Amino acid sequence: MNNIKWPEGYKSAVMFSFDVDGDTTWENGNRGLPNGDKYIKSLSVGQYGPKRAVDMILDKLDTYSVKGTFFIPGLTAERYPDMVKKIYIAGHEIGHHGYAHERFAGKSTEEQIEIIEKSQKIYEDLVGKKAIGFRTPSGDWAVETPGLLYERGFSYSSSMRGDDRPYRTIIDGEETDFIEIPTKWELDDYVAMAYNMYPAEPAGLDRISCYRNVSDNFMRELEGSHRFGLCISFMMHPQVIGSPGRIQILDKLLKTATETDDMWIATGHEIADWYRKAYPLSREKQESEKR
Ligand SMILES: [Zn+2]
Repeated sequence: MNNIKWPEGYKSAVMFSFDVDGDTTWENGNRGLPNGDKYIKSLSVGQYGPKRAVDMILDKLDTYSVKGTFFIPGLTAERYPDMVKKIYIAGHEIGHHGYAHERFAGKSTEEQIEIIEKSQKIYEDLVGKKAIGFRTPSGDWAVETPGLLYERGFSYSSSMRGDDRPYRTIIDGEETDFIEIPTKWELDDYVAMAYNMYPAEPAGLDRISCYRNVSDNFMRELEGSHRFGLCISFMMHPQVIGSPGRIQILDKLLKTATETDDMWIATGHEIADWYRKAYPLSREKQESEKR
């Protein structure tokens, strides 16, 4: 197995990331339903994130002196500007998560560019900086999406599933400096615990998983990732993980991660920057070997 040699004697890396979807996912889910715009209650499920749960998470991160990565749709940022500023001022990273949490797959190149740039302007207006990290909303992106991001100065994405180590994204057949930090469905609290009656989440119902079991699943993944020297990217949603009961799951992970001296807790841009330097392009490697 091709092991990563992490910096400063660390044995593995962990990224705590939070997708602050707010009401966007529920709006998108309601849209196709008869009278969908009238389902105010389902929107309020998502509002719990920005209104209440983000503060819970910020407190926890502060308790353990951990910096997180928050992927925020531009529309959520517009609706909750103070929340975005609070996250940023506390030293966490703001990442791009679409504008209205739209699925990039199926969108034209022009539409994708418009979404990317619209949210970048919002982040810039709010915190004086564009995002350099991206997480694809609603599951999938289009073939050209990584190229469009890379051309616009993005450093990394944390969207794909096919590895448990960072890697260079291949765009138009070439390895690039655009780093992917993969995540997994089993590291997603939404998959395990998000719930709504109508529109149904999960489709077909029924499930709110036992918190103890979810906590155990996450912990096994964290410990396993460390044992094998990998990179793990937790993908959590404030509206899910930030309830008074479920925040204990995050607490336990943060406790274990901070008590494990050789576990590198980093934000997306820290991992991407380090990886790019530590693992140069194969092309460059080949050239330097020839010299
Ligand atoms: Zn999302």
